Amino acid sequence: MTKLIFEKSRQEVGGINLTDEKVDFSFIDKKYLSENHSSILPEISELEVMRHYKELSDKNFCIEKGFYPLGSCTMKYNPKVNELLATLDGFTALHPMQDDEDAQGALKLMYNLQEALKIVTGMDAVTLQPAAGAHGELCGMMVVKKYFQKIGQDRKNVIIPDSAHGTNPASAAMCGFNIVEIKSNEKGLVDLEALKAVLDENTAAIMLTNPNTLGLFEEDILEISKLVHEKGALLYYDGANMNAIMGYTNPRLMGFDIVHLNLHKTFSTPHGGGGPGAGPVGVVDKLKDFLPVPTIKYNGKNYYRDYSSKDSIGKMKAFYGNFSVLVKAYAYVLLMGKELKNASANAVLNANYMMNKLKEYYDLPYDRKCMHEFVLSGEKQKEQGANTLAIAKRLMDSNFHPPTIYFPLIVHEAIMIEPTESETKERLDDFVDTMIQIAKEIEANPQEVLKHPLNTPVKKVDETLAARKPDLAYRI
Ligand SMILES: *Cc1c(COP(=O)(O)O)cnc(C)c1O
Repeated sequence: MTKLIFEKSRQEVGGINLTDEKVDFSFIDKKYLSENHSSILPEISELEVMRHYKELSDKNFCIEKGFYPLGSCTMKYNPKVNELLATLDGFTALHPMQDDEDAQGALKLMYNLQEALKIVTGMDAVTLQPAAGAHGELCGMMVVKKYFQKIGQDRKNVIIPDSAHGTNPASAAMCGFNIVEIKSNEKGLVDLEALKAVLDENTAAIMLTNPNTLGLFEEDILEISKLVHEKGALLYYDGANMNAIMGYTNPRLMGFDIVHLNLHKTFSTPHGGGGPGAGPVGVVDKLKDFLPVPTIKYNGKNYYRDYSSKDSIGKMKAFYGNFSVLVKAYAYVLLMGKELKNASANAVLNANYMMNKLKEYYDLPYDRKCMHEFVLSGEKQKEQGANTLAIAKRLMDSNFHPPTIYFPLIVHEAIMIEPTESETKERLDDFVDTMIQIAKEIEANPQEVLKHPLNTPVKKVDETLAARKPDLAYRI
């Protein structure tokens, strides 16, 4: 068990000396200083500090350490050069209140990124402000609300399929909409009859992910778009799965009116690390005045922040969003250019390759060509004595991050695998072989499989207790 840095502290070692008269420590709150003003911060040598944090970081699993097929999260390789570019002094030292004329480079970058994302999504206007996917959804739903207010219609319902990501109904509900859930059909797609049955003049919007969370492309999307528009409602595209379609199609061609993207999935910011993200929102022309202010504009000579839109929903985020994420996304788009299309092609190819290899050993409830991810079911293995959770834990001992499990909710014992485009065939084969091996282990002796994980820093935890009675304070 790793000790806390406070437990490693020994007075004799001497860390920083807070009684040094040459230094003004008055900015430190008194409660962090002991009586004689020496620090109650840990006393530990510089080398031991480094070792401490290295040891902690080694406990993390990251993409640099191994395969990370976390479905719906697009845990791909994000080029390190983009991280480097985001740390250039000109970007990091720029104050957000700087006058437009002194920030032309940053504003140009944002403007050009907006333009690039307009091409990727097919939309007419883009805001970079929202900080995450769910935040983009909230922004989009606020736009929907404002639009109907403006045209004098009081529409209350937002239709969402049962396969949707949980943030979709949450975002719509936060804007005061009623959620109308529709069941998927036996192909795992939107059931047109179910849609027709709930679609009416009270429908404000439908929220869809395409490909959906089963990794399946909604073949009837044009028909859906026609039906929804006929009722005067709007189509919202959850673009978290954009990695599947870049350059092949776009939400505009499918008939959507609003889209958010997860830059921290598709566009070179790591996802899942708890760090900053960005969820830009694109809209069609008739909705562009509702976007948050300021919008970044160009008058042929200068780039500037425009606050003039009277119909704007206001601000979604302090200043202009998470700027460093925007730098990485812009660098990535420039680096990739037309190759973005190949990224999607390889992501889809990799997923289909693995799906076809694994479907002999695991149930595949929707056995159709998939897009960038696919969903297996661990039902058969559960009957044999080790469920999906056990499979996930077992994978950790082979240095694989487990796939997403128990989501989407419509698949029992779901195992949702997204390999992304950046993995080699050897790595994919390695994972497939391990999954096959686990299936065989479960068939032979499920009890053994239930003992895992054995090699991880934290072994088997009581999931219920951890959720119901989290012990969040460490007491020495
Ligand atoms: C990740 C994801 C979201 C939410 O994005 P956050 O940035 O985590 O808020 C929404 N929908 C789908 C399909 C996703 O995969």
